Amino acid sequence: MQTAVRDPEKTPREHSIVFADIVPDLKSHIPELRGRLLANQPLADLTWFRVGGPAQALFMPEGEDDLAYFMARLPHEVPVTVIGLGSNLIVRDGGVPGVVIRLGRGFNEVAVEDGHRVRAGTAVPDVKVARAAQEAGIAGLSFLRGIPGAIGGALRMNGGAYGTETKDTLVEARGVDRKGGIHVFANADMGYTYRHCGLPDDIVFTQALFRGSPGDPAAIAAEMNKITEAREATQPVKSRTGGSTFKNPVGHKAWQLIDAAGCRGFKVGNAQVSELHCNFLINLGGASAADIENLGETVRRRVKENSGVELEWEIERIGVT
Ligand SMILES: Cc1cc2nc3c(=O)[nH]c(=O)nc-3n(C[C@H](O)[C@H](O)[C@H](O)COP(=O)(O)OP(=O)(O)OC[C@H]3O[C@@H](n4cnc5c(N)ncnc54)[C@H](O)[C@@H]3O)c2cc1C
Repeated sequence: MQTAVRDPEKTPREHSIVFADIVPDLKSHIPELRGRLLANQPLADLTWFRVGGPAQALFMPEGEDDLAYFMARLPHEVPVTVIGLGSNLIVRDGGVPGVVIRLGRGFNEVAVEDGHRVRAGTAVPDVKVARAAQEAGIAGLSFLRGIPGAIGGALRMNGGAYGTETKDTLVEARGVDRKGGIHVFANADMGYTYRHCGLPDDIVFTQALFRGSPGDPAAIAAEMNKITEAREATQPVKSRTGGSTFKNPVGHKAWQLIDAAGCRGFKVGNAQVSELHCNFLINLGGASAADIENLGETVRRRVKENSGVELEWEIERIGVT
């Protein structure tokens, strides 16, 4: 089922990998599916790095009940991978076997509730949640202004910035498990540590409830503007990148270790360590996923040799080489 062949006529950008089409068989197991289920769908354009092969099948559910029905009926042996806005992802060149789930319509509502709370579907971009909170005079969620992902990615990564993390504001999250069960996870159930959620990887989050505190809309707007300016000055936010590549090791800043190891500006193929912020890797145009991942591994090796510290990837890598 997972065999892929390379089509010699096509360039990597034209998704030269072609998987066996599993969609007709899946549809026969899951006849009342409402969402779209498509074979061999390119993923590169769904990620910030713009690299990588296709999904063997891409599923875009209509809503939480459709997703739960799909998960309950999906044969157990088919691997499932979920993606958000692809701002923390390298999709490998060989593509992703099994089913990739991407949430869109049906998961994109955001609503302000009593008690300085904001409820958001997991396809809502973080910035929209920050803006809804600001307009309603809810402080504490402006850190989301600078994170270019959607809420599902924030929940999974415990996304954070400027001293606040998702775990500091989350009340609860909803999600669907691999057997189609729908759960509500209290903040304490999420198993949060720095840029990590302890729940099983195959939980697909569908909704989040955040709580802030009373604040002045104008002051919150000013804070958000400062975040935007700071980002543009210090990060290559207009490049094809995946944000911070490595987690900050305890007691260190990853970028300082990378700089000290002489890696600023270092290149593999068309992938480069950013000159502006050396914990960011950049696709200069035409890089493969392998170029970017090899560059990251070279940086890890050099940092280990130079400082003895082993960097841990923050960017998630999915699929096969
Ligand atoms: C310019 C730039 C700046 C950045 N700055 C920051 C920053 O300041 N702080 C920070 O924390 N991050 C930052 N990032 C990284 C990234 O934006 C965050 O990790 C973000 O939370 C990822 O969200 P996403 O929707 O893009 O998820 P993706 O990159 O698509 O996926 C990331 C992970 O989340 C999982 N996931 C996505 N959606 C769901 C879902 N619905 N259910 C379950 N799992 C899901 C995926 O399986 C994957 O493991 C930055 C990235 C860029 C490109």
